[in-house]
Amino acid sequence: MATQKRVWLFRDGNRSLRDLLGGKGANLAEMMNIGLPVPPGFTITTEVCTDYYASGRQLPEGLTDEIKTALADVEKELGKTFGDPNNPLLLSVRSGAKFSMPGMMDTVLNLGLNDEIVNALSQVADPRFVYDSYRRFIMMLSDVAYSDQYDHITKHDFEHMFYDLKRELGVTEDLEVPADSLKALCDSYKAHVIKQTGKEFPQNPFEQLEAAITAVFRSWNNERAIIYRRKEKIDDAIGTAVNVQAMVFGNRGDDCGTGVAFTRNASTGENVIFGEYLMNAQGEDVVAGVRTPMPISELAKQDPVIYKQFEETCAVLEKHYKDMQDIEFTIEHGKFFILQCRSGKRTGPAAVRIAVDQVKEGLITKEDAIARVDPNLLTQCLLPVIPANAKYNVIARGLPAGPGAATGVAVFSSDKAAELGKGGAGERVILVRADTNPDDLKGMLAAQGVLTERGGMTSHAALVARGFGIPTVAGCSEISVGSDHFVIKATGQVVKEGEYISLNGGLGEVISGQVPVEEAKMTGDFGEFMAWADEFRGKFGVRTNADTPKDTELAIKLGAEGIGLCRTEHMFFEGERRPVVQRMILATNDADRQVALDELLEFQREDFKGIFEALGGRPCTVRLIDPPLHEFMPNREKLIEEVAALHAVGKSDPEKEAMLKVVEGMHEINPMMGLRGCRLSIVFPQIVEMQTRAILEGASAVVKAGGQAVPEIMIPLVGHVNELKFVRERLEATAAAVVAEQGVSVDYSFGTMIEVPRGALTADEIAVEASFFSFGTNDLTQMTFGFSRDDSDRFLKPYVAEKILPGDPFESIDQSGVGQLMKIAIEKAHTVRPDIKLGICGEHGGEPSSVKFCYDIGLNYVSCSPYRVPIARLAAAQAALGKGVSDK
Ligand code: PEP
Ligand code: MG
Repeated sequence: MATQKRVWLFRDGNRSLRDLLGGKGANLAEMMNIGLPVPPGFTITTEVCTDYYASGRQLPEGLTDEIKTALADVEKELGKTFGDPNNPLLLSVRSGAKFSMPGMMDTVLNLGLNDEIVNALSQVADPRFVYDSYRRFIMMLSDVAYSDQYDHITKHDFEHMFYDLKRELGVTEDLEVPADSLKALCDSYKAHVIKQTGKEFPQNPFEQLEAAITAVFRSWNNERAIIYRRKEKIDDAIGTAVNVQAMVFGNRGDDCGTGVAFTRNASTGENVIFGEYLMNAQGEDVVAGVRTPMPISELAKQDPVIYKQFEETCAVLEKHYKDMQDIEFTIEHGKFFILQCRSGKRTGPAAVRIAVDQVKEGLITKEDAIARVDPNLLTQCLLPVIPANAKYNVIARGLPAGPGAATGVAVFSSDKAAELGKGGAGERVILVRADTNPDDLKGMLAAQGVLTERGGMTSHAALVARGFGIPTVAGCSEISVGSDHFVIKATGQVVKEGEYISLNGGLGEVISGQVPVEEAKMTGDFGEFMAWADEFRGKFGVRTNADTPKDTELAIKLGAEGIGLCRTEHMFFEGERRPVVQRMILATNDADRQVALDELLEFQREDFKGIFEALGGRPCTVRLIDPPLHEFMPNREKLIEEVAALHAVGKSDPEKEAMLKVVEGMHEINPMMGLRGCRLSIVFPQIVEMQTRAILEGASAVVKAGGQAVPEIMIPLVGHVNELKFVRERLEATAAAVVAEQGVSVDYSFGTMIEVPRGALTADEIAVEASFFSFGTNDLTQMTFGFSRDDSDRFLKPYVAEKILPGDPFESIDQSGVGQLMKIAIEKAHTVRPDIKLGICGEHGGEPSSVKFCYDIGLNYVSCSPYRVPIARLAAAQAALGKGVSDK
């Protein structure tokens, strides 16, 4: 039950009451209190909305009396009376939750009109205006109040009738429809209401008001509002407030108008008012695009006096709120009114520029600037983008796995992508796959973008895509991918190989045809802003996950302070190495295996040398091989098919059959839990020896050339201390040998990943053997929940939709479960090694709320893919300041 006042006059509220009054109500109150021209009104609180739902969709008892008292106050102030035909007060009824949900809930304007009032008004006011207002009101109230119970009573149905009328009259513009036709249209609308609902359109203003308030509360749970909340991670339980406000009219003649504006440019951040308006119109005409609005700069020419007032209001609001505002205004007979202000939504580049400019203008502090920018928005500062004004056709949506925009022709195999794309014929291609596996790496690298039907945010495709900055839409279950085409399931539309498609990776959009794509511009503001973030984040480090010198250089440019995870197996996939890796696996004796390993050593030594050089003395956590060996072998199903096809025609290929036998022998039912990680290093200790040698010889070469190298060798998937001991003994023996041979000392350290729950629970035993821990939260999440990281998107989507989980735990750390294991591990490790270095290298290391968690539990650094380094730097600064933007 509500515990406090349920109806607040605007003058009694203020902006700190957003929880109770909603964002719109709190800001209307605030604006009124700082003397801006806000029409009077009142707000029914969000608590009434929650009560409404708690009591089976009933308005609470006594509410009507409170509304009447507030209404009397408004009547007194304006000298008008609600329902009085001679001097009627008319109202707008609008939704307004704590967080803005633009256009998602219902609004009713011109409330309080009825036949009698309209008759009387048309004697004293322009009848065209009166009937235009009445037809809008009948349409809006019927739409919001009845359309969920009756058919053909939506806004669309009424608009259709209006359209037919214009056609009969031979006119195209609303303003060309004369008063008597609008009057007849109102009669048709009312007849339509009776026909559809069996009831008269309500004539009693209080009945209208109650219907509108109830409709706004109901609209909290309409489909689009629910979807919007899910996307924006807004709590379903907070409810909306209802704002009831005296109407001012923008459709009352040529000296009236309405518009929306941002106090700065929301796309670029430029300090220029940006907006659109229409004369002789009501608000929805601007947003709905019924008429083409004019740029706000025209208002300066059309009505300089009003424009000046508008400009001054923008300045007052920015100064007061210390942020860029999104405002709605109305001009009634040459008088300016402001109807709404809220913090304006903006792009990443605009967010940075506005924050930096406002610090320089003395409006905000650097701390405010850092706290205000959503870290996720920074990706938009780094990647190719679709220009803000581009129009395009979205044909499907999936997970926004790798941000950025890409256009190219659809290709359906990695070979084709490599043949046609970057490094091949140089065409722009989009690789479309049902899912991807390591074989697809070359195709992904050759493509502008990647689209997959299956796979989640930590699927291979997503991981590689983010690492390489490839725009990617993954887990797009709205499409079905064939061998040379894909089908949009809902519409049956087919996209064939060679046809152009585009991806908007940041939003998970699949787009038909080509879209313009422009390179992101790295402005000076961005560098300056990030330097401030670094000041606040202090000692808390941000490293990168990188496996090549090129990625390392990129990440350093983006501010990485070292490598937190170098996945060495990625080096095994490259170019000519794969056959050598296969020989190593297929070897039937140690000597043959050693020959292959010696070849691999040559490659890996060079790789590490390149990475250490690129790092310029920064630390590098190198992880020894992790994935199961069969990932390096030819595909089992394909081999079975090939062998069977040969047998069917009475032929055979002994080499293929031998290969199949080995692959069959290595086949695992559940490879993620199989022979991988440190288990591989124990079964094949020669691999550890080769990798240790490659790391330390690469490092020695750099040191000998006068550089610095700081390798931190890391063992994956440790669950028992004895695993670590076993690997460590071999590794140290090799390291000692290399140091002796090279004659230079390389200061390497030895540590482990914590990614198996048992490893976390026995961290005090493991820490004895390890000078650092890096939390592998991808596997730790997988093994804590028992959710396969490659297959879970199929049930995680419904889990999140049904609120079984608050979000995808592979995206943002599950703090109470996985996070608890991390805390236990830290606490236990500190008992034996108080100075142990602690980091995270799972995908969570670049996700803002997880970065905050890592900061709070005392990690020393996070590590993430290169393009997420700036996000992590900003998120870390916000964590250090104890304030950020994600308070939903
Ligand atoms: C992890 O499991 O979190 C990790 C970083 O290792 P990988 O993703 O390579 O398994
Ligand atoms: Mg792992």
